[in-house]
Amino acid sequence: MPRPTQALVDLDAIRHNFSVISSLAPGSQVFAVVKADAYGHGMIPVARALSGLAPAFATACVDEALELRKAGLHEPVLLLQGFYESEELTEASVQGFWPVIENEQQLRLLTHTPLPKPLQVWIKIDSGMHRLGFAPSQAAAVFQTLQQTPNVHATPGWLTHFSNADASERSTTLRQIKLFDAHLNGLPGPRSLCNSPGLLQWPEAHADWVRPGFLLYGSSPLSPPASALGVDLRPAMTLISSVMSVRTVARGEHVGYGGRWQARRDSRIATVAVGYADGYPRHANDGTPVLIRGQRAPLAGRVSMDMITVDVTDIPDVGIGDPAILWGAGLDVSDVARHAGTIGYALLAAMPARPRRIYQSSRSL
Ligand SMILES: *Cc1c(COP(=O)(O)O)cnc(C)c1O
Repeated sequence: MPRPTQALVDLDAIRHNFSVISSLAPGSQVFAVVKADAYGHGMIPVARALSGLAPAFATACVDEALELRKAGLHEPVLLLQGFYESEELTEASVQGFWPVIENEQQLRLLTHTPLPKPLQVWIKIDSGMHRLGFAPSQAAAVFQTLQQTPNVHATPGWLTHFSNADASERSTTLRQIKLFDAHLNGLPGPRSLCNSPGLLQWPEAHADWVRPGFLLYGSSPLSPPASALGVDLRPAMTLISSVMSVRTVARGEHVGYGGRWQARRDSRIATVAVGYADGYPRHANDGTPVLIRGQRAPLAGRVSMDMITVDVTDIPDVGIGDPAILWGAGLDVSDVARHAGTIGYALLAAMPARPRRIYQSSRSL
């Protein structure tokens, strides 16, 4: 058998999650956010699975959007970071992408570059995140400027981004919504405010379009997780490997680099063929759960490049070849991330190509 480390990607789960999202925001259209290789799941298979369901996709940049076109996907693509230069703007016009514009330089390029076709643009407003966007007080002026160029369709879209939508503290998001609404009052065009946590926690801000990424892939951005809200998400990726070696380690012995873990009793240690070069977090602490033979067993010792060691003393009869699930079905990636001092987003988006993606789908693609 070859090295067993694989990322199983369940495309039915992604379609299911899309439907759950649609029913959570019944009055809104959905941008399926597939940037960063669809959060490590593989952009093209994911986009194909959602084609016909999602009215539009969202990517970070033109290059990602072009990959969708090359794969024969013809939906509109929202470019969350717009364009960096006039060549990209021209490409956006040719391909029918929907660039977000958020600064004066993009506005200048838009009014000064001769384009083959007028564009649908979205104007980003900085309602408090202070990362991208025009000041709310500039909204009307940006709108006026766009009215005077033949390069854009008459009605732009309007977009903003929340900084604290996952928090239990609600005043920051409330202030962002009010500021956005107040300065766009009277201006035409569709509105979009919510990423995944906003979608779950702020139904009053669903507006015309929602922009979920993380939720599509089936984990919750909230703590406690969305399952506590009765939201039935299915994890799309299961990172799986198997036990490659098993040994008994006497009480008092240490395991792995630096001997971080010490046996408090005579212990059984299973070595699993997955490491940080496979996307497993290097900073996972002792006790990070690993599913072996369907049971949770604690990580024991530092994560190596190609291997981890797991304390399976309490799971009878663990042997070579037993499957080990690192996250996914039965083990939430966000749970694993918490043990590594990070978030599920970062684990998924940083997935290297090394674990082969195995796609499962009941629909042919
Ligand atoms: C990435 C991104 C999203 C998706 O965020 P999730 O929390 O993954 O749903 C939405 N909007 C913008 C502007 C983004 O950059």
